[in-house]
Amino acid sequence: MGRSRVFLAAFASLSVVLGGAGSAQAGVGLPPVVSHVPTQEKVVFITIDDGWNHDPEAARILREKRVPASLFLLPGAASYDTAYFTDLVGQGRVTVENHTVSHPDLTTLDAAGKDAEVCGAGEQVEAAFGRAPKLLRPPYGAVNDEVRLAAKACGVKALVTWTYDFTTWGETPPTPRLKSGDIVLLHFTPTLAADLQRALDTARAAGLKPAALMPHLRSSGVL
Ligand SMILES: [Zn+2]
Repeated sequence: MGRSRVFLAAFASLSVVLGGAGSAQAGVGLPPVVSHVPTQEKVVFITIDDGWNHDPEAARILREKRVPASLFLLPGAASYDTAYFTDLVGQGRVTVENHTVSHPDLTTLDAAGKDAEVCGAGEQVEAAFGRAPKLLRPPYGAVNDEVRLAAKACGVKALVTWTYDFTTWGETPPTPRLKSGDIVLLHFTPTLAADLQRALDTARAAGLKPAALMPHLRSSGVL
């Protein structure tokens, strides 16, 4: 199974290199890369990455406000306290998606490496949370067509980057003006509760509500 996927990915990469150079067809048939959802609905999308810090206050906000959110978790970060996340999946409105096994820049890996990182993470997320992830957040937002091909071979429907990062990395970033369809990036860091609250307040000030990503990717025609 693993070997056939590697072979498929290697073969698909080769066909793009041979057939795609300079062609208007490049990228056709590959899962889309989405940094903003083209919708007129008054919605934004909350995404939270990695999973290393398990702050009860952040979980409380997600549960009590029933915030729809996509969690792009690293299996190793979720595994030492899986209950933190299974509680959110069970009581909140979150889904767990794919962020690779070990957070590499996927564009630097060969086909077997991409397969191990993306399919491997998908299998671990499914084993832990009972649902195969459909979305991939490529670490660092690093994507190219070979990464998209590898993702497709692992069952990924879309690669999701972001419109704005609300994470406090040392200092709080400037608050942007959110628009319909924007994708907000947060991280499971010690400042998540405050960063999440700031994102929710900013969305509300713009008349926008957090919404589930997958249904809006479908209804907006991205998928
Ligand atoms: Zn990450």
